[in-house]
Formats: sequence, structure tokens, C-alpha cells
Amino acid sequence: MTESSSVKDAGGQGELLAGGQGELPSGAQGELLLEAFDAQVFRESSESVLAKLEKHLADQAIKGLELVDPARLTEAARSLMTDESTRIAAFDEEKLAAIVDLYVRTGIPVHSPGYMGRQFSGVVPLGGVVDFVSSVVNQPSSFYEAGQLPNVAERIMADELNRFIGWECGSFDMVTTSGGSLANLTALLAARNRRFPEYWTKGGAALQGRGRPAVAVGADVHYSVSRAAGVMGIGEDQLVRLPLNAEQQICVEQAGPALAAAEERGLEVFCLVASAGTTSVGAFDPLDALADLAHERNIWLHVDGAHGASLLVSERLRKKLHGIEKVDSLAWDAHKMMFVPAPCTLLFYRNKEHSRGAFRQKASYVFDEQQDIYTALDSGDKNFECTKRPMIMPLWVLWSMYGRALFAEKIEYLCQLTQDAYDVVAEESDFQTVHRPEANILCFRYVPGTLAPENIHRLQEDIRNKVKFQGNFFISKVNVDGVAALRVVMMNHRITVENFRMLLSEVRKSGQELMAHYEDQRDAQ
Ligand SMILES: *Cc1c(COP(=O)(O)O)cnc(C)c1O
Repeated sequence: MTESSSVKDAGGQGELLAGGQGELPSGAQGELLLEAFDAQVFRESSESVLAKLEKHLADQAIKGLELVDPARLTEAARSLMTDESTRIAAFDEEKLAAIVDLYVRTGIPVHSPGYMGRQFSGVVPLGGVVDFVSSVVNQPSSFYEAGQLPNVAERIMADELNRFIGWECGSFDMVTTSGGSLANLTALLAARNRRFPEYWTKGGAALQGRGRPAVAVGADVHYSVSRAAGVMGIGEDQLVRLPLNAEQQICVEQAGPALAAAEERGLEVFCLVASAGTTSVGAFDPLDALADLAHERNIWLHVDGAHGASLLVSERLRKKLHGIEKVDSLAWDAHKMMFVPAPCTLLFYRNKEHSRGAFRQKASYVFDEQQDIYTALDSGDKNFECTKRPMIMPLWVLWSMYGRALFAEKIEYLCQLTQDAYDVVAEESDFQTVHRPEANILCFRYVPGTLAPENIHRLQEDIRNKVKFQGNFFISKVNVDGVAALRVVMMNHRITVENFRMLLSEVRKSGQELMAHYEDQRDAQ
């Protein structure tokens, strides 16, 4: 029986292979097919794209996002699509150039000093080069045989970064995941399966006679954690929100009583999630004290360090994560403060046995029952993804080429800049500070004396939008203690204090225009 007839019989739906001959189309179509995969065409098209990207990176103009009407952008994008529906279209260099231009132009300008808005960063360009290689060689990394170097690089980076965590060599584990949100979900699953070993197979029936599974979090936890609670069937209502202190950190004194009260209510708290750098203000929860508390109560301590774990590589800043060696798991986004292309997240487990606990599942076609020296490096049983981007490669290459100091120097600059920006805000009588920055996130409000208190919240929201549409700066906003605040995230080492003063001027001017408008509205009523 030939290969093609077995395919045919299995499908039972006639020929699956056109013509049944397994031949490429003849003539021009055959040539176009070959050309689409041709090495020289590849090089030529890459070179013109690289020239464009060089220009893009060299542009240091201060600018924010040019937000485009989605209908107009759709139209522009559609106009670049081929009309061919049955035949392979010929390669069109101009079309590629137009597509790349459109792509670059419509993005948040992450390399501009005007970008102070979000946590993903302008990448170290070499990281982009490595990602480009990854896209061409296409070595998904959940299994050693599919991505040999990525899997080895993961093990190396785990050891390299563990130098700043401090676990014993060989005792811990690390797995990469597509983003911090997935890392948080994965760690919570590992924690839940450890406390409720039968939950994976029996589901809710495993809970007979026990309290409802619950997760304790800081009141300001990232939404991915409450989402994980929903996904896992724990239910968002089973999140025990621990009160924060004035610095927006989990208040240790109140955490113990809050956990006890949760148990009284019939909850069984199996995991405590602390943040090492909250998303809103960059606050670091006191890990050392929380680890003691969790240990006393036999609760898994997971640290969401998506934003701030990178501070570990700085001698000056690592004290923010004091006690990190005592925690059970740590999520660390390299696509934030390690400046690599997104996504690249590292999920560490203090006890390597626990890394296999998140997904208790057998699939004989991929998971070898008997490990050998090759399959021992597979991570497919420890991460949710089957096909997974070899996301470690840019990080490993940058680390190999430049060493730790590249990251430490940049992070230290950004945190100092944020301190300086805080000092500037504190000096201005029409601005209000909201917190003392612990890292590179700063929230503040524009509150001139003439502003009616009931308009404070609305004014910050309106200023954020006005600044965004003016297109000189890109900043974000967040509610702190229920009231909106302007939020800057310093991710670019080319931003200066002077740039920040320019932003404040724009905020002030926008605020005054908006307030005049509020008054017009009131007078009109
Ligand atoms: C960004 C962030 C996340 C989410 O990580 P993604 O990589 O965007 O999925 C989770 N927690 C914190 C504290 C974050 O800052």
C-alpha cells in the first residue's frame, strides 16, 4: 500500500493530493512557488526591510502614538492585499515596503523619548535580530529534539538568573511561558494540585468535606491572577484581598488576621500571591515577612515579578526583593525590564519537583515514559503550550554578548530617572504625588487649586486621552485608591528629566484647556 492510498483510505473522501502525483505545478506557478521559499529573494527582501528598521531606530523625535481610525487602517491594509485568489501572486517588493512602513508607523513608538506609557519596551535591537533568526529556523522549544539550542539556553539562563535568587544548584526549575499571565496561571495550578492532588482528575468532587479553595492576593494584584481563579474554577469570589499599607504594599500586620478570617468563612487558602512590582504603581510587597507567614500556614507563596523581578540583577536595587529565596515560585517577564521582544517570561520554582505538578497529564505521543539525556530537557509537560516560541534566545544571546551589566545599568538609570521625576512633581504646587516610586513607575495627578474635588478623577482621565490624541507623549492612567491618576512607566534610557518636564507642561496646558471646557459646560446648563 502506497502512502497516498493509505491517506485516501483513512479519509474515505477521495483524493487528498491534487492529481495524486505529488508534483509541483508546472510553468510560472511552479516558479513562483519556488521563489516564495528562495534564499536569495529572502536576503534581498530582508535587506530592504533592515534599511527601513535602521531609519526607524535612528529616529529620536519625541512623539507618542498616532492613533488611526480602525476603518481607515483596515482600508489601507486591504489595499495592500493581492487580488489573486486562485493563483500564486508574484512577489512585489513595493508592496512589502508599504506593508512594513504601515506596520512601523502605526505602532506605539517604543524607541521614542515620548513613550512613557506601558511596560513593554523598546528592545535591545540585537534581540530583534535573534528573534528574526528564530522565525526563520523555526525551532519551537517545548521539546529538546525540536529546539536543541533553545532548550540548552533555557537551562543556562535558569542557572544564570538563579545566581540572583540564590537557590541551590540543581534543586530548582525554570520553564518559559508566553507571558506573565500564563506564568501566573501555571504557578497557581501547580500550587492547587499540590494542595488538592485529586483535583486534576476528579475536578470539584475532590473537594468533598473540604473548604473552598481560595487564593490570597494583594488588593492591587494584576488582573491575570483573578482571571486565573476564574479559569481554574476557583471563582473570582474566592480571592481573599489583603489590605495594602500607605506604600500600596500588602500590609503584613493585617494579612495574618485576614487569612484567619477567610478560613472562618470556609475558605482553604492554598496560595498567596505577592507582587514584586505592582502594575499600577510598581510597589514591592514585603517578601521576607510574607514568606514566613505563608510558611507558618503551609501556603504556597507565588511572586508575580512580571514587572519587577528584573531588579534582582542590580546590586543596588535587588533589596526590593529581599526574601526571594524563600518563595515557592516566581514569574519574571523578560519582555518588560530585560528589554527583549515579547513575549519572554521565565517561571521559576524553588523545588524542581513542583514544576511537573501544574499539568498532571499523560500524552504518550509526546511525553516519553522513560527519559533519556535528550528528553530530560523537554518542557512540554511543564508548560501549557505545545508549540512554543523559542523565546529565551534573544535574552540568552544578549546576556552572552553584553553580560549582566547592560541590564543592570539600564534598570538603575530608569529607576533613578523615576525618582528624579517624582522630585519634579513634588515641587509643582498644581501637581499631586500619589506614592513614592520604588521602581520605574510613577503615578501623579494634576490638581490645581481651582479644580472642584468632584472633577479630580474625570480630569485625569480626560488629560490622559487629550495627551494621547495630541500625539507628543504616550502615557497611561490608573486608579489609585479609587481615583484616577496619570501614570508614566520609564522604559527608555534616552528619556531625560527635561523630557519629563516637557510632559508636565503638556499635562498642565491640557488640564487648563479641559477645565475651561468644564466651566463652559456648567455655564451652559
Ligand atoms: C505585565 C504584568 C502581568 C502580565 O504579564 P504579561 O506578560 O503581560 O502576560 C502580570 N503581573 C504583573 C505585575 C504585570 O506587571
